[in-house]
Amino acid sequence: MAQYLQIKARHPDALLFFRMGDFYELFFDDALAAAEALDITLTHRGQHKGDPIPMAGVPHHSAEPYLARLIRQGFRVAVCEQTESPAEAKKRGSKAVVNREVVRIVTPGTLTEDTLLDARSDNFLCAILPGADGLTALALADISTGVFRVMSVNSDILTASVASYSPREILFQDQDETALAQADVLSVLQIPLTPHTTRQASAKGGKDALISAFGLTSADGLGDFSDLEFAATGLLLSYIELTQAGVPPELDFPRRDTLNRHMQIDETTRHALEIDRTQSGARKGSLLESVDRTRTPGGARLLAEHLARPLMDVAAINDRLDAIQCLSENDDALATIREHLKAMPDLDRARSRLRLGRGNPRDLINVAGSIETASHLVPQLAEPGLCQSATLSGVSGVISTTLEQGLARLVEKLRFMLVDEPPIQISEGGVIRSGADETLDRLRTLRDNSKRIIAELESEYQSETGIAQLRIKFNNMLGYYIEVPARFVDDLEKADTEKVFHRRQGLANATRYSSERLSEIAREIDSATSEARLLETRLFEGLQANVLEQSDGLRQLSEAISRLDVAASGAQLCQETDTCRPALFEDKRLSVEAGRHPVVEAALRKSGHGFVSNSLVLDGEDQQGARLQVMTGPNMAGKSTFLRQTALLVILAQAGLYVPAKAMSLGVVDRVFSRVGASDDLARGKSTFMVEMLETASILNQASDRALVILDEVGRGTSTYDGLAIAWSCVEYLHDQIRCRGLFATHYHELTQLASRLPFAGNLSLKAREWRGDLIFLHEVQDGPADKSYGVQVARLAGLPKPAVARARQVLDELEANKSGQAVSDDMPLFSFNDAGSDSGEEDEASAEQTHHAAVSALEDINPDELSPREALDILYKLKSLL
Ligand code: ATP
Repeated sequence: MAQYLQIKARHPDALLFFRMGDFYELFFDDALAAAEALDITLTHRGQHKGDPIPMAGVPHHSAEPYLARLIRQGFRVAVCEQTESPAEAKKRGSKAVVNREVVRIVTPGTLTEDTLLDARSDNFLCAILPGADGLTALALADISTGVFRVMSVNSDILTASVASYSPREILFQDQDETALAQADVLSVLQIPLTPHTTRQASAKGGKDALISAFGLTSADGLGDFSDLEFAATGLLLSYIELTQAGVPPELDFPRRDTLNRHMQIDETTRHALEIDRTQSGARKGSLLESVDRTRTPGGARLLAEHLARPLMDVAAINDRLDAIQCLSENDDALATIREHLKAMPDLDRARSRLRLGRGNPRDLINVAGSIETASHLVPQLAEPGLCQSATLSGVSGVISTTLEQGLARLVEKLRFMLVDEPPIQISEGGVIRSGADETLDRLRTLRDNSKRIIAELESEYQSETGIAQLRIKFNNMLGYYIEVPARFVDDLEKADTEKVFHRRQGLANATRYSSERLSEIAREIDSATSEARLLETRLFEGLQANVLEQSDGLRQLSEAISRLDVAASGAQLCQETDTCRPALFEDKRLSVEAGRHPVVEAALRKSGHGFVSNSLVLDGEDQQGARLQVMTGPNMAGKSTFLRQTALLVILAQAGLYVPAKAMSLGVVDRVFSRVGASDDLARGKSTFMVEMLETASILNQASDRALVILDEVGRGTSTYDGLAIAWSCVEYLHDQIRCRGLFATHYHELTQLASRLPFAGNLSLKAREWRGDLIFLHEVQDGPADKSYGVQVARLAGLPKPAVARARQVLDELEANKSGQAVSDDMPLFSFNDAGSDSGEEDEASAEQTHHAAVSALEDINPDELSPREALDILYKLKSLL
């Protein structure tokens, strides 16, 4: 217990998994917390200061799923192992306690095990370090893949930049006030924030950490990093080292990410547009899921990165699009490439585990399999149609070069040495192929022969003693022994004139003996088995070292394969759905012909409905049209869908993917802002309206004329006139001051007047037809404002009680008749229908029918020449249903 308390004192903020034999035990509060979190039994063991000590435990061999659950629930776990055997401890004295040490602190940002990781997502740990000049340095590492990025960002894009990497854990220095303030700001991301203080968070500390992590003599050759960036690197590396209990981090060389080359998407927008997760946190239903056809975990991670940080460089975007185009025009090559990719294991994660000394024989097999798969791709990539893409020929070049520079040799060696399907643990033996190593073969033959010799000895003893029931057996306590059933013991002792058998153990029904020869053979078997095992471990370590020598080549290879997979996924998507290649420009145009919302379309398709495509032109160049469109239309008509669809198309295009549209031209956007719907953030003391205004303020303060701004119903959360006034001024501000491209959806019809006042504003609306008080949504975007808002009809569709609908109509008529702003008149007492119940509602309906007979009066309103075939068909169905 003293040892436990001592170790626990060093890890107060983590649950201590304290290894005791075959279990990890937890004590005191840790036991209470783990028992609750894992739903495992809470027991007691011994006493501390007179009280029983709460204890809970998990078996050591199946600890990973428990760890995964704890990490997911926000715990950190310090894993404390026995660092010597009980026999070794005994040498120090009979009461000596086995030595134990924390070998690793498991935190969300420092995971490496497949069972703890999501194969299709990065697992970044992010260190933030604010500087004096408003810049913050970010250092990010994914130790499960070795990716290491460094950058500096301005405080206004800090949250967006951090969010674009979706890190699993953020580190900050809690002794620095600016860092504390930043941590507070970043808490909106709901990512665990870990305070970590270290002397290494300085330029010198960071350089030293890099020098020692990479075995360099100087950090200068790593790149042109600022002092602040080196310091952030120091903060990051020191934490990794701490959590890996001193094992230096095994990462690729740090690379600078220049975020100013990427489109910025702040967290609110990312959340609202459901780019990689839906608002409820699921991957299913997100934009990423709807476009992801990748076949490798690395490809899936890269595609997520492309959508998280779309590009702004037209040439770079076109490179990605070229690759998709070439592959989509070569069906056979695409199918074969995708077939090969399907067999590709997660090379990055296997490589990282091997580097961290946590690799297993399957990781080696996966490295070999990856290289072989890559080599099969070379002839496919040589197809004439594919060579035209710089990306694809680059991929082919990397594969060929890395194969030549050592990977071909490596795979040969791995295949020569390893059995095809090795066990996961090296300790199980049987990892190295027979014929691969002479000494190992000799030891194995000896081991196997000894077994035969034991069998021979057994039959020899049986015939010498005349006891056919004599057996040679094995157990862990005695090792090999000779066993004779109790009723033959006298026979044996009579027959054993030479005193060959020495009695070792008497049982009720049998007696056990040893003999000199048996002990000798046992010693041989023992040493052959353990020597073989040791040798296998050494050979495994040798292969591991061979892999690590090729670490850089393997990194290049896996990056290239991921690029290919992303392109093949894009091409596959083209074949499955109706998409087009967007045309990118440096100016500020935006036009979409027949665009569709990829996620809503997929959802509607599943329920057997079609999606209505819509076009849009925003003229950011102020030449021939509006750059800011005010959108009106009934609830449920599709305004939000259209707004989001526009933003998603822009993101897809700049991520270098084809878009669901007939045609799209886009002048690159530097930031996408969206405010669609708001919710309370009561936990942080902000009401719905406050959240809405904060989000709107941040857009108006940050957007540039290159931005795309999408605002849905700004000003809804307050009184009508306040809301209208705010919405009005926002449209004017966007139009006059920011001059960006934008869509502004609103139910304030008064705003539609702005189009005639502001030169670059226009009106769009969504078509709907009224039908005997019912609405038919056509989901078609048309020029001009909507005629009215149809809120009451939508309320009726939603199933508001009939009396309430009838009453709402009454109040609406009254309000519209009395636009001077006076309240509902006194002679219309509120809820006068209270007692009438639903009958009165039916009466209202009946009277409505008298004044406008359903089918007839509807037909009177229709001009067949103005109807599209689709509208006509919809109306026909509606009429039929009215009869
Ligand atoms: P509100 O004003 O109430 O927020 P809205 O006008 O923003 O409504 P949306 O939420 O965009 O309406 O759309 C409502 C539903 O209409 C969607 O869930 C979808 O099922 C359907 N819809 C929207 N656009 C289309 C379309 N283009 N084609 C087919 N169905 C659509």
